[in-house]
Amino acid sequence: MGTVFEIAAYDQTSQHALDAIEKAFQEIVRVDDLLSNYKTDSALSYLNSSAHFHAEKVPSDLYRVVEESLRFSRLSGGKFDISVAPLVDLWKAAIAGAGTPSLARQQAARDCVGYEKIELTPPDQITFHSACMQLDLGAIGKGYAVDRAAEVLQSSGIRNALINAGGSTILAIGSPPGQSAWLVHLRDPSRKVDPQVMLKDESVSTSEQTAPSLLGDDSPGHIIDPDTGRPLRTEFAVSVIAQTGTASDALSTASLVLGPEKGKVLLYRMAGVSAIWISPDAQMEVVTGGPQIVFGKGF
Ligand code: ADP
Ligand code: MG
Repeated sequence: MGTVFEIAAYDQTSQHALDAIEKAFQEIVRVDDLLSNYKTDSALSYLNSSAHFHAEKVPSDLYRVVEESLRFSRLSGGKFDISVAPLVDLWKAAIAGAGTPSLARQQAARDCVGYEKIELTPPDQITFHSACMQLDLGAIGKGYAVDRAAEVLQSSGIRNALINAGGSTILAIGSPPGQSAWLVHLRDPSRKVDPQVMLKDESVSTSEQTAPSLLGDDSPGHIIDPDTGRPLRTEFAVSVIAQTGTASDALSTASLVLGPEKGKVLLYRMAGVSAIWISPDAQMEVVTGGPQIVFGKGF
């Protein structure tokens, strides 16, 4: 997943906590081996090479993640779409120095995209109804991995732990000893408000566009607006708190692409979800259907 995972866990004995953490890391590696699109032998890479107009049997974790992804695609009116992979690849190459892709290449990639062309056949088959469809689980895979790691910790008897996937998804189990919840500082591009949240059996994820996308119309970035086929242009960073890592991860990407106005409409409909959009000039929008977001500075 190209991410450093960290796990902190409390237990009666440190050896038991360490054993549980070790099992949770093994679970993260297992999930990454399935969902990575960097690893050519992952279940996702195999699906991407074989499911065009053909029902492919997949491992249950991959089926679940794709099923969840389609749910978030429908909820976000298509702004969250794991089939944006060809566009993600095109614009990632631009970030790496390949230059702005030609309009013809952009159009060819756009023609491959569309979550409606992914068919799920329960219990475990996936078909792509597009000749060049590719899936990218970059916006949901870390959240899913964190959820599976949490399950492993809990089944080992751990009741107080924090799992951090490179800062982009952080999931809290219980609270640190003697405290009511885990205090997490949220991303603040303005450096003026220092938003914080007390997490307990909840997860927070943050999304933000890569900096070059702010420079001009053809500037690259790693988050794509499926409606334009181009990197999203936004200065906002958004953090979303939800009950699971899968939900917070998918919803943070969806909320960034939707923007605060439409994003709020989506999140108000979801029980127990809080969110904050912040721009570099401290423009802010907040949703508090879940835990309270408090401010360390200026308020
Ligand atoms: P990060 O993983 O960088 O912390 P995100 O969870 O927002 O942040 O995921 C961004 C990744 O999601 C991109 O690198 C890309 O792989 C993928 N992606 C880009 N645009 C979309 C989109 N509109 N819907 C779903 N996935 C996307
Ligand atoms: Mg995400």
